[in-house]
Amino acid sequence: MPGKCIIFSAPSGSGKSTIVNYLTTNHPELKLRFSVSATSRKPRGQEQDGVHYYFLTEEEFRRRISDGDFLEYEEVYAGCFYGTLKSQVEEKLNAGYNVVFDVDVEGGCNIKKFFGEKALSVFVQPPSVEELRRRLEGRGTDSSQMIEKRLAKAEQELAYAPRFDVIIVNDDLDTAQQETFEKVSEYLNA
Ligand code: ADP
Ligand code: 5GP
Repeated sequence: MPGKCIIFSAPSGSGKSTIVNYLTTNHPELKLRFSVSATSRKPRGQEQDGVHYYFLTEEEFRRRISDGDFLEYEEVYAGCFYGTLKSQVEEKLNAGYNVVFDVDVEGGCNIKKFFGEKALSVFVQPPSVEELRRRLEGRGTDSSQMIEKRLAKAEQELAYAPRFDVIIVNDDLDTAQQETFEKVSEYLNA
């Protein structure tokens, strides 16, 4: 039976990757597989090509757009493209896995519109913008210029929360992870 989609969106630094990683590592029974996106930004920290993203040059990214390879894509930050590859999604759904997306708020709304009831959209909300700054600085993977770009976008992104099926406030991490697990299992088992 083809699987379902779980979409995670949030301002950068809210804790999406941490929560997604918790679910995929600790709950194999959910049969989740991560949709590896393509991006034109450079790898940061320990990121590996083909695991966290497919890292493309801007030229390669534009070629894949004209080849029709993306289910959706956005220029999330000026000069930084991100996109969901159709191939990633189709293969996994057809193999019966549930596909997890970590995408920006617009990508999240577009994927939800595309899959309808076959997708659960989850918005991960930080307790405050000040805490978002602390987390981005604490993560230590972005330049101060990139952190400012991300924070400048956060206010607009927070306004998208009501469009999502579920809002998880990521204040205490254990609570947020447990709550996300409950919502996702409830949806997948319905
Ligand atoms: P995103 O994927 O949304 O950009 P990350 O998962 O990379 O965010 O989290 C950003 C930083 O905040 C990381 O250093 C992570 O360890 C930390 N973090 C995540 N959730 C919490 C939390 N509830 N409390 C404190 N720090 C957190
Ligand atoms: P980061 O650079 O922190 O990895 O990601 C920046 C933003 O791009 C995050 O909001 C992330 O969810 C989003 N993003 C990652 N992949 C995709 C994608 O395939 N499509 C869209 N629309 N956004 C993405």
